[in-house]
Amino acid sequence: MTDLVTLHIAEAADLLNKKEISAVELTNAHLAEMEKGRILNAYITETPERALADAEASDKRRAAGSALGVLDGIPIANKDLYCTAGVRTTAASKMLANFVPPYESTVTQKLKDAGTVMLGKVNTDQFAMGGSTMTSYFGVTKNPWTDEQGAYSLVPGGSSGGSAAAVAAGLCMGATGSDTGGSIRQPASFCGVTGIKPTYGRCSRYGIVAFASSLDQAGPMARSVKDCALLLGAMAGADKWDSTVAELPVPDFAAALTGDIRGKKIGIPKEYRPAGLNEQVAKVWDKGIQLLRDAGAEIVDISLPHTKYALPVYYIIACAEASSNLSRYDGVRYTERVPGATLDEMYENTRTDGFGSEVIRRILLGTFVLSAGFYDAYYIRAQRVRRLIYDDFQKAFETVDAILAPAAPTPALSYEAMKRMSPVDTYLGDVFTTPSSLAGAPALSLPVGLSDTGLPIGLQIIGKHFDESTVLQIGDVLEKAAGFDLTPRRVKG
Ligand code: GLN
Repeated sequence: MTDLVTLHIAEAADLLNKKEISAVELTNAHLAEMEKGRILNAYITETPERALADAEASDKRRAAGSALGVLDGIPIANKDLYCTAGVRTTAASKMLANFVPPYESTVTQKLKDAGTVMLGKVNTDQFAMGGSTMTSYFGVTKNPWTDEQGAYSLVPGGSSGGSAAAVAAGLCMGATGSDTGGSIRQPASFCGVTGIKPTYGRCSRYGIVAFASSLDQAGPMARSVKDCALLLGAMAGADKWDSTVAELPVPDFAAALTGDIRGKKIGIPKEYRPAGLNEQVAKVWDKGIQLLRDAGAEIVDISLPHTKYALPVYYIIACAEASSNLSRYDGVRYTERVPGATLDEMYENTRTDGFGSEVIRRILLGTFVLSAGFYDAYYIRAQRVRRLIYDDFQKAFETVDAILAPAAPTPALSYEAMKRMSPVDTYLGDVFTTPSSLAGAPALSLPVGLSDTGLPIGLQIIGKHFDESTVLQIGDVLEKAAGFDLTPRRVKG
């Protein structure tokens, strides 16, 4: 019998179309797996009743011969940053712990329209700030890949760590994530799954709890490049509720996976290989380079000279925008109110109680860099350097079709190791993902190899603006060449 929870979306869609399985069967298999997988704490809210209702509706559509969505009957999870009408949306915070949105985000609506089944809402770092899910008010998610002793001691990465862990462990077939400075790509790398941050402006941000609006992008996470292509196709497209979404047609991303990348020029940026680069990561990167060369791509050394400024620039801009975006949580709208003797005291009490320490740190930092005395020195300067980083990519793309680089500087770290790190040390984990975020360029992360201790290591393919098709095409070839075994050590026993 087919193990329904290890199928890829493309395979399950095929079986559904052939009527070999039903959406209800597929959904029940995932609901059972979610129960077994509760130890991972991947879900904040499970929605089994909604899932079964969605699945039954899909089966009815199929039986009646009605028009079907491209993902009809496919069970997915949504990052708990996406507003889902009538279903609690917490942003993994105490502030929104009881917030039930009256409306649906555009991306989750599009996925619904494509026929997907929603299994529930998955964990994230609080307000998507972090790289481990350790800042979640609902507790940390465990990486389904165990350490060498067989213990769940590793973080899944973040902020879309719940999405990555759920996909890796078979607790959903695909999931939405969001990426501001790496939150799809880094957890994908840590959990051995695939995820793409599309071009800024490819997907609507409407109804996604805002972190840093000039950087936030929705994207899919799944067990193959093809599955990501299918999900992205359903998620993308213009939206009257978000003027930053490009009025461009959405290509058939799955059709771009031709399997042939002969003659494609792939850039290898020297700045991503600093002297102290983790040797496990370097080894997998070299393997990826070789595999692409073997597939007929031309490997070209390139330079992205402003790379070293990306991290500080990102943390200035992201915190500045966060401090502004999060001012809406004032105890008057959306949230729980903590009373005070005066209006100011009520604001203060509500925000002190509702936000975790990482969120408060970033609001303070953002308020500081936007303050009258420091605005020019920090915020304006950061904006200028952001432009230089963007120009680096534009220049590189005059000669190459895409760029291959590591997704994260290390494999998954343990909770214990992360607890001992200062906040700034944890920010260093975003070193390879923030440059393309600042440039707004699309970037895919896919698992290519294992570390010596058996942990997944992902590589990143960064592409030209709105050229996700090439990124996915190259990723698909690399995926097949790498033959990465997706099964976490847990499942293998
Ligand atoms: N880890 C990064 C941060 O904490 C990225 C987060 C994200 O992309 N949402 O800001």
